[in-house]
Amino acid sequence: MHQSLAFDPELIKKYDRVGPRYTSYPTAVQFQESFNNADYQQAIARSNQSDRLLSLYAHIPFCNTACFYCACNKIPTRDRSRAAPYLERLYHEMAMQSRLLDPSRVVDQLHLGGGTPTFISNDEMKQLMEQFRTHFNLRDDDEGEYSIEIDPREADAGTVKLLRELGFNRMSLGVQDFDPAVQKAVNRIQSKAETFEVMHAAREYGFKSINVDLIYGLPLQNEVSFIRTVDQVLEASPDRVTVFNYAHLPSMFPAQKRMNEADMPTGDTKLRMLAMTIERLQAAGYVYIGMDHFAKPDDELTQAQRQGKLYRNFQGYSTHADCDLVALGSTSISMVDNVYAQNLRDLDDYTARIDANELAIFRGVTLTRDDEIRRAIIMRLMCDFALDFVEFGKAWGIDGMAYFALERELLSEFVADGLLVMQGSRIEVQPVGRMMVRTMAMLFDVYNRDKVTGKFSKII
Ligand code: SF4
Repeated sequence: MHQSLAFDPELIKKYDRVGPRYTSYPTAVQFQESFNNADYQQAIARSNQSDRLLSLYAHIPFCNTACFYCACNKIPTRDRSRAAPYLERLYHEMAMQSRLLDPSRVVDQLHLGGGTPTFISNDEMKQLMEQFRTHFNLRDDDEGEYSIEIDPREADAGTVKLLRELGFNRMSLGVQDFDPAVQKAVNRIQSKAETFEVMHAAREYGFKSINVDLIYGLPLQNEVSFIRTVDQVLEASPDRVTVFNYAHLPSMFPAQKRMNEADMPTGDTKLRMLAMTIERLQAAGYVYIGMDHFAKPDDELTQAQRQGKLYRNFQGYSTHADCDLVALGSTSISMVDNVYAQNLRDLDDYTARIDANELAIFRGVTLTRDDEIRRAIIMRLMCDFALDFVEFGKAWGIDGMAYFALERELLSEFVADGLLVMQGSRIEVQPVGRMMVRTMAMLFDVYNRDKVTGKFSKII
């Protein structure tokens, strides 16, 4: 497949709809509080009968300061002593989860996210990884995808060295914007020097992939200043660059009210910022993977996409297919067999549940067969930008053409606009349509096809 991207502002405006990012399907809006620990435990029992590998996620909710734009579940605090009691609960949860799992199941993926994972001390990080190794069957051949989110303000070369020794081999760094005025407006003061120290150390100590996150749409940004940031990031040659559109939803995330809306770039400015960013990244050799993600041509994500082996999960795109994801810590979401299960979001509630020797699940969903089929087709569309309804149907034991007759009809608008080519049973998203793949995916989403909830961020 070819992996180019073309930018057409008029078409982007036409198809600019609110929609989920499809790191899960159904999305969290469909989770039910009637789903409980017993439902999850049954799913684990079923999953133990499969030959699927394991993916582990642990959430560290603390951040030293709060970035005003942030929509993550985090606890801003300067009190480092809050980490220890939380980690104790995490270890207790690990013990409970590991008792449910077949101990021979190999952990192919591990991800530490937050919040700020390196909010915890180096000694606590060592202990955390020891606990992972005690309770689960972690790989020790460096072939797994063991990744961590890094705030460069909370890590230095020594931290990076330790993380590599502990088995991490991929990292994602939050940068967002290097412009000092933008940084002040969003309450995230982070120098280029501290960012580069971490990136250079990651290279030196052998991290296999380094991702940098940028955000456009923040106060005081414009196309000139943002491209300066992009160029500065490219100096350090990350393997991947993710360029998120800032989602301004102050009613859901009150800290966003602390930014001046009048300073935020207009829709047209954002489009120009995005267009220039795409141009810069493509000129530097990066390939558009999809959903805001760019990667170097030799990065494993790009290779996996070329081979039709790319997947999507809560961490975004991944090359490690079909793992059961066991998530630990407050707010985290597991994906096991045909269920999603989310832990309590409030730290006190989470703590109380774990202290009562119970898993901390408070909501989730068991997928119907139709949900599973739709999850799979949305995944293939977003990862491959192409699919064959007949072939897809064969894999699922359905008549793919008949099952998705309505969707194929609805896609005709995209065909008429040149975003998609439909030939017989096959569709292929064109370079100019790749930015709108989420809107196409929504047509397969029975929960969002007709109603747009307003709870999701705008696509552009
Ligand atoms: S962006 Fe990262 S560091 Fe900033 S508040 Fe959110 S989770 Fe914390």
